[in-house]
Amino acid sequence: MGKKFTGKNLVLTMGELIYLLFRKKECPKCKSNLERKKEYEIRNDLPGSRPNHLSIHAPGADVKVYKYFFVCIQCSSQFPLGVLAKM
Ligand SMILES: [Zn+2]
Repeated sequence: MGKKFTGKNLVLTMGELIYLLFRKKECPKCKSNLERKKEYEIRNDLPGSRPNHLSIHAPGADVKVYKYFFVCIQCSSQFPLGVLAKM
């Protein structure tokens, strides 16, 4: 019997949200455009859903935790969203 995913999570800080919504997606190295990518990891050590999260899942359930990162179309450098948000 395969494992069933019971939840999804996308957790962003306020700075990351502001970057995603408002800031210019520009490579810190060469100033070219950045392409947004999304990846996820499977976590099963999370507590149950909380009111400020986007998903509902049971404590200890398998949850896909999504995170964004950016890849420069020119120099192929990769930047996690958290790093760009703090620049
Ligand atoms: Zn670049």
